Amino acid sequence: MARPCVLYIIIPCYNEESVLPITAPVFLRRIQEMTERGLISDDSRILFVNDGSRDETWRIISDLAEKDRHYIGISQSRNRGHQNAVLAGLMEAKDRCDITISIDCDGQDDPNAMDEMVKKYQEGCEVVYGVRSSRETDTFFKRTTAEAFYHLLSWMGVEVVFNHADYRLLSNRVLNELQNFREVNIYLRGMIPLIGFRSAQVPYERHERAAGKSHYPLSKMLGLAFDGITSLSVRPIRMIAAFGMLVSVFSFCLIVWSIVQYFVGNTVPGWASLCAIVCFVGGIQLVSLGIIGEYIGKIYLETKARPRYIISERTYEKKVSEETEAKEEL
Ligand code: UDP
Ligand code: MG
Repeated sequence: MARPCVLYIIIPCYNEESVLPITAPVFLRRIQEMTERGLISDDSRILFVNDGSRDETWRIISDLAEKDRHYIGISQSRNRGHQNAVLAGLMEAKDRCDITISIDCDGQDDPNAMDEMVKKYQEGCEVVYGVRSSRETDTFFKRTTAEAFYHLLSWMGVEVVFNHADYRLLSNRVLNELQNFREVNIYLRGMIPLIGFRSAQVPYERHERAAGKSHYPLSKMLGLAFDGITSLSVRPIRMIAAFGMLVSVFSFCLIVWSIVQYFVGNTVPGWASLCAIVCFVGGIQLVSLGIIGEYIGKIYLETKARPRYIISERTYEKKVSEETEAKEEL
């Protein structure tokens, strides 16, 4: 049987004083249950990341940490947003555990899906995405905007898992690769698929918030959507270039048309030449912008200094690990 792995549950918290006392014991129970079933080791932890809360959140986390050794916490110096809070937790846990599961602290994501996630990991998956099986508890507005956003993202060339938010299992190996993505504007949902490795999906029910209210009003949701597109896709720039080409073709037709009109005698003096010049310059400008944009896009991608390759298997490393495993068994 597989060795029980050390799991760190990463939980970002921002002004969650009303919800933490309700959900923290739920996560602890999950750790205990999974430990009893031999799925995870007793060294597993619940790591709260306080994202610069202005209420009693940090005090609650500190109290929890004193009560039970399974609770631990870190606090960010100021509010940095959900994605950065999750990343901070993942990087903190990286060298202490075999796997992490990130989950919101508001009880919306069903923590019972964790067993299935760990099992998938034991079957050899390095990434396990929690996927909402239904969005009935979301308002009609949130559901339609969110689904439209997934479609827009994939049309922009960003690979995302449909109906997956930030409830996911990552293996230690993936965390080590994630560390090499040095970009500042992060959108984890788009970055994790870039890392690759074997992955699986686990469906779960999305519930109502246990208490408190959402920190994602429309403005923040639009901000996240915009970040997601601009930090993972240069397609908007390409669209300018394509538009430039289109305008140039259109201008060329207009130029031909105005010259024909000139010869037919349908014009006042100067009109045809003026029309031709305006069209020509307009087209040239947009195409030039597009070409410059293409270079800017390249510079943008280069500045991220993302890893150029990630190796998933090595024949010789496998042999070494098999040998050490065999030795351990002896
Ligand atoms: N969160 C955070 N920093 C922020 C906003 C939110 O760490 O600036 C956390 C929050 O405490 C929660 C998770 O991110 O655990 C998701 O936020 P929320 O439930 O408000 O969003 P929704 O589920 O409504 O999209
Ligand atoms: Mg929520």
